[in-house]
Amino acid sequence: MSSNVISPKLKLAQDEPVFSRIVLGLWRLADWQMTAQQRVRFLEQALELGIDTLDQADIYGDYLSESLLGEAIALAPHLRDKFRFVSKCGIKLVSVNRPAHTMQHYDTSAAHIIASAEQSLRAMQLEQLDLLLIHRPDPLMNADEIAEAFRHLQDSGKVRHFGVSNFSNSQFELLASRVPLVTNQVELSLLHMQPLHDGSLDLLQRLRIAPMIWSALGGGGLFRPAHEQSEQGQRISKVLTRLADEHGVSISTIAIAWILQHPSMPMVLTGSGRIAAVQEAVQATAVALSREQWFALWCASAGKNVD
Ligand code: NAP
Repeated sequence: MSSNVISPKLKLAQDEPVFSRIVLGLWRLADWQMTAQQRVRFLEQALELGIDTLDQADIYGDYLSESLLGEAIALAPHLRDKFRFVSKCGIKLVSVNRPAHTMQHYDTSAAHIIASAEQSLRAMQLEQLDLLLIHRPDPLMNADEIAEAFRHLQDSGKVRHFGVSNFSNSQFELLASRVPLVTNQVELSLLHMQPLHDGSLDLLQRLRIAPMIWSALGGGGLFRPAHEQSEQGQRISKVLTRLADEHGVSISTIAIAWILQHPSMPMVLTGSGRIAAVQEAVQATAVALSREQWFALWCASAGKNVD
């Protein structure tokens, strides 16, 4: 394991400005009960910490999260040029906010992708998205049709780059055979190590494409009290606590540093509405775990030593 401090910024594509390694995830924005002015302050504080990328999806907050962000941007238009905006499409939820939806399903038709991206822009009060992801693999996805929709959005200046989320390697390679993709946003944490071993991160490293990581803290699962933790959670907590003491940082900082040190160069999404917790995530870019420390956490999660 390199002893170097982790680069806090990362290039997602050749002709792109850099993106921050820590990204503010806004899935839970509607739960945070912030006024529009408090949202502006939260975003400004994130910027002060060096975060310049926001992760959204059309469906977040039951289709309300993007508009809540848009309200903040209307109040503080300078934020528009300070952040890179990521959103997602392709899931249709049954919602009072989408009365036309009669059942939950995936839709990666060109018409839906284009309409969804345009709606995301209106809701967030933006002219352009930096990155649009297909949120989940759709068994009916037609790679040519998705590529056509992506090209239309790019040619019209509405979206700069495209990627996917939760795609298997074969699904990723299918779509990447038709149109350039700049990321696969996947779940990875000490409670969910699957991408380390199912080939997802191998493929991205081979292609020199940076993964984006969601629920890096197990969606908060790493912080449950001991009596509510699984045996796996208890093992992980014990090692996290020891390493946090050794490095003089929080356990969330160590859990995120463990991910950032993967050679595929992941970008990690935070999910907290507390700026102190976001700061702990940013601090992870300054923590270098030794190989022994990294494997102590891997072994705690796996419940065994390496062979
Ligand atoms: P997470 O960082 O694993 O979990 C965040 C949750 O942990 C929050 O509810 C937070 O509550 C809680 N938490 C408790 N103690 C914490 C601490 N010390 N530090 C940080 N958090 C603490 O991430 P996530 O919210 O599950 O996901 C992050 C982002 O990933 C989302 O916002 C979204 O943008 C993206 N995402 C993508 C997908 C996909 O399919 N592509 C799926 C899920 C999420 P407090 O607010 O009280 O701190």
